[in-house]
Amino acid sequence: MIHRIEPVCQTPLWQHALATAFTDVDEFVDYLHLDKNLLPAARQAAAQFGLKVPREFAELINKADPADPILRQVLPIGAESLLSEGFSADPVGDLKTAIVPGVLHKYQGRLLLIASGSCAIHCRYCFRRHFPYQETATYRDKWQQALAYIKDAKDIHEIILSGGDPLSLSDGRLSQLVTQLEVIPHLKRLRIHTRLPVVIPARLTAELVKWMTAGRLKKILVLHINHRKEITPELTRSLTGLHQGGVTLLNQSVLLKGVNDNLTALIELSEALFEANILPYYLHMLDRVQGSAHFEVADEEALRLENSLRNNLPGYLMPKWVREHAGMAAKQPAF
Ligand SMILES: *Cc1c(COP(=O)(O)O)cnc(C)c1O
Ligand code: SF4
Repeated sequence: MIHRIEPVCQTPLWQHALATAFTDVDEFVDYLHLDKNLLPAARQAAAQFGLKVPREFAELINKADPADPILRQVLPIGAESLLSEGFSADPVGDLKTAIVPGVLHKYQGRLLLIASGSCAIHCRYCFRRHFPYQETATYRDKWQQALAYIKDAKDIHEIILSGGDPLSLSDGRLSQLVTQLEVIPHLKRLRIHTRLPVVIPARLTAELVKWMTAGRLKKILVLHINHRKEITPELTRSLTGLHQGGVTLLNQSVLLKGVNDNLTALIELSEALFEANILPYYLHMLDRVQGSAHFEVADEEALRLENSLRNNLPGYLMPKWVREHAGMAAKQPAF
């Protein structure tokens, strides 16, 4: 029998990891030795917002432990199908601020570019789970329109690539975009918000390090890590090139019930971030998106945690506790 010979190295490792992520609820529950009784509700919730977990990230989950903090972030459950009062499809009002497709001019001096609609992982609490990416995505042809807008808006100093996950685009596409941004004189900084390297550290390719550490614009990488288990030796190693190349590494988390809503978890998270050369930036209160009510931590409890955490950490390891309000020009202090 003749085997087809696959071209080696054609597909970067990380794209292979993306393509082979768990997307089937049954397979995922079976792999983790979880109770099969979870399946009907999981299938129902996954029909609304699909399961997606890269295999390497799934390895961080303790087998047969329904309370695992990583598992809770990714497993569709029955509670997602409950309608809760005060929870809506677009809690932060993103749909109202899109001027040009894929461009959100919501923050003073900064402009948010939805660089890609897809993510490497589906986080169950995500405020964008109902976001109509297809309508606002800035794909190849739409970038020109976005760039024209940026060139005209001289008060913009920082471009924020967001999504979805901007790092789901190839290095070729991204470096091309960055090259076009570099020549716009009023821009000073380029910031990238991403969860991709957390779930697939191989995303931090040599090519990425090259375009991130070159050029005139100051680069900031804001990772999205909620629990210290997500900071693996592979992630730390993969970040070395960016750290040494002068990229500012920050983290944002979401306060999530059953994931990081206790003092120990939050202290360990900040400490582990610093070990990996990342500074804690934001701790977001949950955006009240329909289907995520089971992740919400009550305000009194959150305030109590915030106080205890401040008493346990040096100031530079204390994230800003913030909340997003629809229509406001900045995030607001949580309390
Ligand atoms: C809040 C936010 C921003 C911008 O806010 P900063 O206060 O400038 O950090 C950009 N992107 C995302 C995804 C955000 O949540
Ligand atoms: S990676 Fe970010 S945008 Fe994507 S599902 Fe998770 S929280 Fe939402």
